[in-house]
Amino acid sequence: MSTQPTRSYLEELGNQSVPVATEIAGRFKPTVHPNPTPLEAKIKILKDLKFGQMFSDYMARAVWTPETGWTQKVIQPYGPIQLSPAAAVLHYGQEVFEGLKAYRHADGSIWSFRPGFNAARFNASARRMAMPELPVEDFLSSIIDTVRADPTWVPETNGSSLYLRPFMFASEAFLGVHSAKEITYLMIASPVGPYFASGLKPVKIWVSTEYHRAAPGGTGAAKTAGNYAASLLPQQEAASRGYDQVCYLDVIENRFLEELGGMNVFAVRNDGSILTPAVTGTILEGGTRSSIITLLHDSGREVFETQIAVDDLVKWIQTGEVTEMFACGTAAVVTPIGELGGENFKARPKGGEVTQWIYDELTGIQNGTRPDKYGWLYRLV
Ligand SMILES: *Cc1c(COP(=O)(O)O)cnc(C)c1O
Repeated sequence: MSTQPTRSYLEELGNQSVPVATEIAGRFKPTVHPNPTPLEAKIKILKDLKFGQMFSDYMARAVWTPETGWTQKVIQPYGPIQLSPAAAVLHYGQEVFEGLKAYRHADGSIWSFRPGFNAARFNASARRMAMPELPVEDFLSSIIDTVRADPTWVPETNGSSLYLRPFMFASEAFLGVHSAKEITYLMIASPVGPYFASGLKPVKIWVSTEYHRAAPGGTGAAKTAGNYAASLLPQQEAASRGYDQVCYLDVIENRFLEELGGMNVFAVRNDGSILTPAVTGTILEGGTRSSIITLLHDSGREVFETQIAVDDLVKWIQTGEVTEMFACGTAAVVTPIGELGGENFKARPKGGEVTQWIYDELTGIQNGTRPDKYGWLYRLV
């Protein structure tokens, strides 16, 4: 148990400095959009933002083969793609993805948050799924070039942003099982509103002892489609019990907290210290998790990256030793956990100010209203 934030391999890679946007922009060749969204329609879309329903006019694309490496890098109109019904991704799920955001600041400039971390994680996921790595500069350029193709897709209203979804998949048409000899990379963008329009809203979490998200040696540390496919049934069952999300436990003892289907978890103790599950290979290492650990640690709190047994946790919530719990990830930033439920328990953290402080601090840095002490922001436009 250590209170020094762990400097993981991914974090080392993700913190390496990357060239500024002007040096790497333009790797993806622009094409003219024949019929972009009319201004009126766009204004309407940007006024009533939901998560992941509307998409900007442009997307980035590139194709990889073993012979050519990454080629055909273009920015093209967003729209349906041609894919062989035999494309391996449709049968065997060879796919990895990322999620990050572009934020508009008051002066009109547009920024993303730690994109080098996402680029490094994309490649870490790719290695696990036997896929080619995408050069960090190409990853960044796809974002820069897509946003620059039409920056008006980055919304202005406070708390909103342009959600960026880079992903790649096995597009080779072949039904044999091998790592595909053709990979397609795409980067699509979706304007999104604040996850919680009217302040942070606590969610109810079901702790599953029946289903698991990841096992040692599996793909839990990779951001890959199959992990999400496997989470849908547990999620449905939790919903039918009245819960919003599922928290998974470790496979071996079925006792230690891992994470939610798409978010990492934290607990706050009444002495001000913080607990979060250690990154052990079965947890997806979040950039939000890493930033929160840094912010908490540097504000003078002890952060323990450790094993957290659910039976202990429930007891600590009931005795008031644990006062707050929250989940975190790029989409929602932080989400307070109002209830933790399982087969034979129910515990309600009473809540407090740490969750709100983190939310304000992180979104403040992202939106340019608080100082970016760590150099986490990267200017796109
Ligand atoms: C993406 C993801 C997270 C959060 O990662 P961030 O970098 O903070 O957005 C956590 N858990 C899982 C399973 C994820 O896929």
